[in-house]
Amino acid sequence: MSGLAKASDLHLLSYNIKMSIPFIDLTRFEDHFLLRWSEKVAELSKKASFIGGYEVEIFEQRLSDLTQVDNVVTCANGTDAIQLALRALGVGVGDYVLVPNVTFWATYEAAVNVGAIPITIDVDLIDGGVDLSAFILAAEKYQPKAAVIAHLYGWATRNLDFIRTFCKDSNIFLVEDGAQCFGVQLNGQSIYKDALLSTTSFYPAKVLGGAGDGGAVFSNKKSIAEEVRRLGNHGRTSHYGYGSIGWNSRLDSIQAAYLNIALDYLPQRISSRRNAAKYYQNSLSTIGVKQILAPEFYEENGYCNVTIFEDFDLKRRVEKGLRDKNIGFGNIYPAAISDQPAIKSILHMGGRNSQKLCESILNLPLYPYMTEIELKTVVDTVASLV
Ligand SMILES: *Cc1c(COP(=O)(O)O)cnc(C)c1O
Repeated sequence: MSGLAKASDLHLLSYNIKMSIPFIDLTRFEDHFLLRWSEKVAELSKKASFIGGYEVEIFEQRLSDLTQVDNVVTCANGTDAIQLALRALGVGVGDYVLVPNVTFWATYEAAVNVGAIPITIDVDLIDGGVDLSAFILAAEKYQPKAAVIAHLYGWATRNLDFIRTFCKDSNIFLVEDGAQCFGVQLNGQSIYKDALLSTTSFYPAKVLGGAGDGGAVFSNKKSIAEEVRRLGNHGRTSHYGYGSIGWNSRLDSIQAAYLNIALDYLPQRISSRRNAAKYYQNSLSTIGVKQILAPEFYEENGYCNVTIFEDFDLKRRVEKGLRDKNIGFGNIYPAAISDQPAIKSILHMGGRNSQKLCESILNLPLYPYMTEIELKTVVDTVASLV
């Protein structure tokens, strides 16, 4: 496991008698990272350069190079990114929008916030994407104006090419919520490259995390990207001229500066995450623990581990065993969208896979620079419980 960090490299654990392993640890900065950041904050503060400017421009250019998408517009967060995408496509009051029944709440919320009527689509238990037959059925029944799908866990559905073509042929605008798939490769190319419109989030716990909130919209269509930029800047067509009703959703210069520094270390962070993900995959399959894995033509970004316990007593026992050992874990996500209390009337295309996934999923700790000792401790603990 030469790709994994050693505890000694990080000056960690040598003093730790009882090791505790968090679900996520965002404090493992590379050498010089915090120094570079504090120098940058001082530089921008002296110039009072806080909105727009060089850092934002450079960051958007670097995102475009990295994702192989021509136009990138940064914004305030990943939820706004989805709303801006839908608004730029003209999706609004009364329009139907297909959304996955298992995703972060923001995917659903964005459709509601633009005035549209979301229809939840059941999940596919093989890769965690939308169930293809439910998706097609809903498209035929409702003729939605748009669909938002979310690429969860560090990859996307194996049916992505099919869904992209199907939506194009059916005149459905497809928005890809890529908050969890930054850095994922599909057949050796950026997953965002061939999307009509995709979005991401720079929430600190994401693969490219900021020092606060941030997001971006990606499109190869210049006119769509320009509309996104206008909407996220008050619908401005000139400094005091407004072509439409937008809102304020800009990425701060200081945030862009932090992300520009983080981008320098992104390859190391992703390769460390991937190594940890691989470690789990190999060792958990050896002890017979079921997992959801990336379809083979994806290179995942190591965003998270997805372990499945269909036996609920066993799941409780594993959760308790992890807690007893001070090992964090996640449950991404514990409930389907259609089961949330905020939803009064829901259009759901049926199926119970979403509930099944939410009840059986358990995510083991995964973050950049996890050590081999930490990974082994987690796996040994699980092994002692199954
Ligand atoms: C994080 C996340 C979002 C929302 O991003 P914010 O920047 O927190 O608004 C949306 N969708 C998915 C799938 C996410 O994981």
